[in-house]
This record gives sequence, C-alpha cells and structure tokens, in this order.
Amino acid sequence: MKNAGPVNLCLMTIHAHPDDESSKGAGSVSKASQEGIRTVLVTATGGEEGDILNPSLDHEKTKADIANIRAKELDLAAEIIGYDKVYRLGYRDSGMAGSEANKNPECFANAPLDEAVGKLVEIIRLERPDVIITYGSDQQGYPHPDHLKVHEISVPAFYAAADPSKYPEFGEAYTPKKLYYSVWRRARFEEMHKKFLELSLESPFDEKWLNRTESEVDTTTTSIDVSKFTHVRRDALLAHATQIDPNSKFWFGLPPEVMDNIYPFDDYHLAIDLTKNTEESLNSWESGNELENDLFSGIR
Ligand SMILES: [Zn+2]
Repeated sequence: MKNAGPVNLCLMTIHAHPDDESSKGAGSVSKASQEGIRTVLVTATGGEEGDILNPSLDHEKTKADIANIRAKELDLAAEIIGYDKVYRLGYRDSGMAGSEANKNPECFANAPLDEAVGKLVEIIRLERPDVIITYGSDQQGYPHPDHLKVHEISVPAFYAAADPSKYPEFGEAYTPKKLYYSVWRRARFEEMHKKFLELSLESPFDEKWLNRTESEVDTTTTSIDVSKFTHVRRDALLAHATQIDPNSKFWFGLPPEVMDNIYPFDDYHLAIDLTKNTEESLNSWESGNELENDLFSGIR
C-alpha cells in the first residue's frame, strides 16, 4: 500500500487479458509506481482462449490448466511492473469474433453492460483513482471483442462512479479526474522497422503490422518518457511464459540496449479531462501544441 506515502495519487489501468498490462503501458505504470503513486490493475478476463505461443510450453498439460497458469503469470507480471493491487472482473475470455468461445454466456463480450459497468464502478469508488487508462473506441487494428468491451464499459463507469444515483449499493460516489486511451503510434513501429533494417536483421514489421496502428490520424496527446523502464516491459512480458515466445522477433528481436534508445515512449490519448474544460484540452492537441509528458499534469 503506497497511498499513505507522500504522493497520495492513484493510477488505475483497465485491461482485457493477462499480458495486455505488460504489452501496453508497463513502463509508465512502473515509473508512476517508483514515484510513489499507488497503481491498480483491473483485468477483465482470465485469458483462457490465448494461444500458447511459447513452443517449449505448448503441450496438453499446459492447455488443461491454462486458467490457473495465466493467473499466476499475471500476478508475477504485475509484481514486476510494480502494481500495488490486481482486480479481476472474473469474466471468461471471449476469443475472437465468430469463435466457439465467443458464444459462451460466461464470456466478457456477452456480459450484460450494466453488470460489467457496476463491477468497475465498485472498484473505482473503492480505489479512488485520479487517472484511469483504458482502450479507445478505434480498435480497427486489433478488434478483439474483449478489448472492444473494455472501452465499452470504461467510459460509462468513469461517469457512473461520480453519480450517486448510479449503483448506490457500490459505495460512495467518486469522480476520477482524467481518462486516457492507450495509443499504438505508427512512429513506434516505423522506428523499430528502420532499426531492424539498419542492423541487417529481418524485420517482423511488414506493411500489415505498420497498418495495425489504432488510427489513421495520430490522436496522441500525451507521450510518457519510459527510457529507464523498457526492461520492465520486457521482463513483464516474459513473465507471461505461455503467451510470449522468448525468441519472438516482434517483442525481443532487438537487443534491450538498442530498444532503450529507439522509441522509449508510451503514448496516450487524453479522452476526458475534468481538471479543465475538456474542449480546451482537445483543442490543444488538434492545434499541434506540444504533447503532454505527465499523466498527472493538472493534478499534482
Ligand atoms: Zn488482449
């Protein structure tokens, strides 16, 4: 518990599956944690449908116990990143659209919106985060039903938590101050692609990958320097041993010391800002002003 510390701020991130917290924003959370900010992770599903991507662990025993294994992997990754607390919404992984798993009534995609929003409201009111990070509405690059649902519940929960008439059984109303969306910026992949070619290595970033960025238009408002934290992301990813091939070129094709200097930023889009007029904050990025470099600007 760090909320008794000198900083007294709280950052909450909302993710779909175990491993999403490691691939997205691990550096920024670790940095916040080291600054004494309380960090809280909410994971919607158990990731039961994840493919085993590590050839050395791809056998029946792993598959039979995948829910338990992924729960332990998540705990380990959260510890590496520096999360103070992990909450699980307890839904089943929905698999990709059209799959059998997607028809399971227990899966996150099929959860009644009201129920899933309520679970999140309860955690927000309990933890009282100043800043919440979630996924945006534009997910054309990777339209996983669980990722879409994370967005679908986050925005209503942000507002409902603040409204005493909503979910009165789930605690005292509380208003978070900012909501951010994680952004995969094309520049990140382009920089990596260039570096692979420069080092005469085969690049995993073909056109398909370069086009997998979230949006045609760069909506980044906020870029966090995580240059001293790229190893955290790497170690946290490796903690998801069944999900991440340690020989993956995509994740680990470039040596760590090279990665540290390529694109050491986590990028975000500021979607709701109650520290000032929202319109004002949106205009500031549209007009090409400098990117914000602190998730807690206007708060601390
Ligand atoms: Zn995911």
